[in-house]
Amino acid sequence: MPQNPRRQFLTRTAALAAAPLFSSVVSGQAPARKLGVALVGLGSLSTGQIAPALSLTRNCRLAGIVTGTPSKAAEWKQKYGLSDKSIYDYKSMARMADNKDIDIVYVVTPNSMHLEHALAAAAAGKHVFCEKPMEITVERCQQMIDALKKAGKMLGVGYRCQFEPNHLECVRLAREKVLGDVKIIDANFGFAIGDPTQWRLKRDLAGGGALMDVGIYCLQTTRMLTGEDPIWVSASEVKTDAVKFKEVDETIMWQTKFPGGVVTQCVSTYAANGLTGFRAATTRGSFGLEPAYFYGGNRGKRSDGPEINFPPMNQFATELDDFADCIINKRPTKVPGEMGLQDVKYLMAIYESIKKGRPVSLV
Ligand code: NAD
Repeated sequence: MPQNPRRQFLTRTAALAAAPLFSSVVSGQAPARKLGVALVGLGSLSTGQIAPALSLTRNCRLAGIVTGTPSKAAEWKQKYGLSDKSIYDYKSMARMADNKDIDIVYVVTPNSMHLEHALAAAAAGKHVFCEKPMEITVERCQQMIDALKKAGKMLGVGYRCQFEPNHLECVRLAREKVLGDVKIIDANFGFAIGDPTQWRLKRDLAGGGALMDVGIYCLQTTRMLTGEDPIWVSASEVKTDAVKFKEVDETIMWQTKFPGGVVTQCVSTYAANGLTGFRAATTRGSFGLEPAYFYGGNRGKRSDGPEINFPPMNQFATELDDFADCIINKRPTKVPGEMGLQDVKYLMAIYESIKKGRPVSLV
């Protein structure tokens, strides 16, 4: 897909990620029955990453699809050996209630459609795994949480870096104060977005621009490394192409303060490639990843010498195996809907700070 710079740069090293080493964070016996996953939205993420990852999982498998495009339905049916009863369009998801092969609905549509598809899944009695950002407002995230709670089903958000070993090593370095206390974090993520007609540039579908799409990774990094929620945010925005970015943000810079005293400096952009990393400055040195947010090939350094470079793994297989294991063993997920809602709340505070031209308190 040479036309798609986002996909190109994220997958640059994804061949490594296809290796099934670490394909599950879950140890022990394989389950008696693999849980069935239905994908809603067969766009580039479902096609290029999630469906291939499902062939590496030990706790779940591709069991259904929801698509508005009949030609995709036929293609996927043949490629993955799906039965007619497991193929839906967006209007027929209620029929899933009768399909025992489907346990989990994975929502991979544009951001503002997540709620509609999660509600349909909950009404059909299915667990929901939802791509990031969870939705485009805090209220819509809350509606999703309430619906899944009412249905007695589990809700998880697709925060793949929460399962990526290089990220987890950085969390360990921070928590165990291996290089002293973390004091300052900078985190940046962006890419030069192509096609000006795509949904990512439309406010009603995306909710926002680069901040909602990739800035959320930087926000997650700062929350993961501190283990805290921010208490203050200050942000500003730069637009160099007012036509292309008429409806959504192009580049945003923001700072946050955390209760333990950590301050952060982050940038999200749709204007440039080459921005994908974070660094934590500590009382005795520093550590970080560069690249940090690719599907594979993330790696980093510690100021005291060792490289941070764990063996290849598949982030999507790992997060899905973990979610399925949570359902099977009735344990809470580390990426619940509440985490998705909190992130949307902080993203909204960043927009509010830009609008008001001053810092916003989060306490
Ligand atoms: P995409 O544009 O490639 O695919 C979107 C899919 O939704 C397509 O199949 C499209 O046909 C369908 N769709 C249904 N109604 C639509 C409408 N009204 N307008 C546009 N498309 C419509 O997008 P994608 O890159 O696959 O992203 C889907 C979701 O996954 C988004 O929420 C995105 O933020 C998230 N995502 C996450 C990661 C990650 O690394 N976790 C990476 C990419 C995308």
